[in-house]
Amino acid sequence: MGKTTVINGALELLEREGVSYRPINFGTFMFEVASAEGLVSDRDEMRTLPQDIQRRLQKTAAEQIARIGENIIVDTHCTVKTPKGFLAGLPEWVLRELMPDIFVLVETDEDQILRRRLSDATRTRDMEGYQGIKDHQQFNRAIAASYAMLTGCTVKAIQNPDFLLDNAVAEMAELLR
Ligand code: AMP
Ligand code: MG
Repeated sequence: MGKTTVINGALELLEREGVSYRPINFGTFMFEVASAEGLVSDRDEMRTLPQDIQRRLQKTAAEQIARIGENIIVDTHCTVKTPKGFLAGLPEWVLRELMPDIFVLVETDEDQILRRRLSDATRTRDMEGYQGIKDHQQFNRAIAASYAMLTGCTVKAIQNPDFLLDNAVAEMAELLR
């Protein structure tokens, strides 16, 4: 959790050094298509769409993002919690489009994620308990290993705990230098 905040902070730091990346939000690309088709009215509804539709939206987003070219940082979900289980955020056909050099997992203590979700009124966050969040983060690490196998990317987990955003931002910037 807090991916977008960490990415924006890191890009701001790098910009000052003349290093520039274009931030891309994968969910936004999916949402543009989904809302144009009248499938959803809110980005948080996408994860409950039928699996085939989520996959189609994913594929279209990946193709569009791949066309943007080099030096991009994609803000996305390692896995998506759907009513029928975890959906890989980067299945093989998405990875083949994106071919990332590095995969960064932004992790936070489960109790802090729980508290942040409860206090975030701007989004419809999952109502999961501590154990559910823990399982999800564990599954994300596991599937990240398969992303590394498929692409040869490196995998790095960075921690984004409360009150230490600056550390997470610095770590992210360092990975992008
Ligand atoms: P975000 O704004 O990053 O929390 O993303 C909003 C929503 O976009 C997520 O809850 C997912 O439904 C969807 N999404 C983002 N990335 C992916 C992905 N790689 N595969 C499938 N759905 C995704
Ligand atoms: Mg975000």
